[in-house]
Amino acid sequence: MLSDTMLQQMNEQVKHEMASAYLYLSMAAHFESVNLSGLASWMRVQAGEEQEHALKFFDHILDRGGKVSLQAIGQPPVDFTTPLAVFEKVLAHEQQVTALIHKLYALAVQEADYASQLFLAWFVTEQVEEEKNASTIVETLKLIGDKSNAIYQLDHQLGKRAAD
Ligand code: MG
Repeated sequence: MLSDTMLQQMNEQVKHEMASAYLYLSMAAHFESVNLSGLASWMRVQAGEEQEHALKFFDHILDRGGKVSLQAIGQPPVDFTTPLAVFEKVLAHEQQVTALIHKLYALAVQEADYASQLFLAWFVTEQVEEEKNASTIVETLKLIGDKSNAIYQLDHQLGKRAAD
């Protein structure tokens, strides 16, 4: 059984992961609208992964005999500017998600909830990867500056990201 606090926090995390999916889908729409279809495709794959993350929490709640209580998701931003600004937003967002995961892990440690600790360990590792991916793209975009050839090259390269 999950504690009441853990149950509530995990239901919140389902929402946060779905909100991440929504944010990245909105970014995908933006990139499509400015003909950066590779970046749009990268964002769609990212949005799909976030939905999978939400479902991992969903399943963990059910596996532990808890009640899933889906929360309302806020509207994501709809107006974006440069690819650099968008990916800086991605990085900042993932850093916030990391903080949420760490808070959940700390709660699991405090409650001696070993099953949740093992479950959350996957997310701790995943967040290292998420932050690394976002910051690598941010750094690349900084190097590129406003050289449009290089932006199209990056667009082509990131468009190759496949769902895993
Ligand atoms: Mg996630």
